[in-house]
Amino acid sequence: MRPTGPLHLGNLHGALANWKNMQDDYECFFFIADWHALTTDYDATEPIKANIHAVFLDWLSVGLSPEKCTLFVQSHQKEHAELFLLLSMITPLPWLERNPTYKEQMDQLKTRDLTTFGFLGYPVLQAADIIIYKANGVPVGIDQAPHVELTREIARRFNHFYGDVFPIPDTILTETSKVLGLDRRKMSKSYENAIFLSDSPDEIRQKVAQMITDPQRARKADPGNPDICNVFSFHKLYSAEETPPRIDSECRKAQIGCVECKKLMAESLVEALAPIREKRSYYETRPEMVTEIMQTGNEHANRVARETMKDVREAVGI
Ligand code: SF4
Repeated sequence: MRPTGPLHLGNLHGALANWKNMQDDYECFFFIADWHALTTDYDATEPIKANIHAVFLDWLSVGLSPEKCTLFVQSHQKEHAELFLLLSMITPLPWLERNPTYKEQMDQLKTRDLTTFGFLGYPVLQAADIIIYKANGVPVGIDQAPHVELTREIARRFNHFYGDVFPIPDTILTETSKVLGLDRRKMSKSYENAIFLSDSPDEIRQKVAQMITDPQRARKADPGNPDICNVFSFHKLYSAEETPPRIDSECRKAQIGCVECKKLMAESLVEALAPIREKRSYYETRPEMVTEIMQTGNEHANRVARETMKDVREAVGI
């Protein structure tokens, strides 16, 4: 995960909830990809350190456990850079040029100069990040699947030249988040439409009050359509089981107004996020504990990465 700032409900439902389940069944490595942040924001590095801390706190708050998985920071593992260099030698340029995200971001991020070697080559760094832990699988949403495919191709090519060092990692497809932002666009920090895991109860209430509901419903007397209402999607996720069917019926008969409906939902959301807030305040008051967890994770990741690099150097013959 890139350290782009505090995490929001979209991150929770798109990745973190799934990671939390996976840590019980798999040996997991989760890292903060600070080098990757440089591929697009190389001229704005100032917030990266604070963002690493914010993301790490969010991880611990949602229940990623240093007892169960390895949590670490990419730039503390110099071996990723060494493997990236070696993989760069064998990765054909057209594989990178046809990467759909590369073309898409070049089109979308017009304000930045992305004609850099680092930006073109970031899928190679991703491949190094993954295979250095001899990963068997990578949990990603459908939009990231082409990157894992590229990693698989690069790992196969390495094995073809130098012998079977790396397992070929599977794509573990995870459901994309159904949670939309306040304005019904994808929830994103850059759209300023996000509810953050670190928001206070009052911030949550204020944000929910701004949420766009069924756009066809102008007055309370008009029947609404919960099927197209973002507030209703939140009710389904966060409110007690009996609430969504009741809202569904009352909304369609214009028996409940959107203001009241949002207030109800905001309280459900505030309550559902309470355990996350509690954990966060626990860790916030113990910064030395957070640093220690990060260090332990970094050291464990480093032991594994160093072992892999011994195999890699031997295989390549340097
Ligand atoms: S009453 Fe609730 S579900 Fe119906 S449109 Fe308003 S906010 Fe949405």
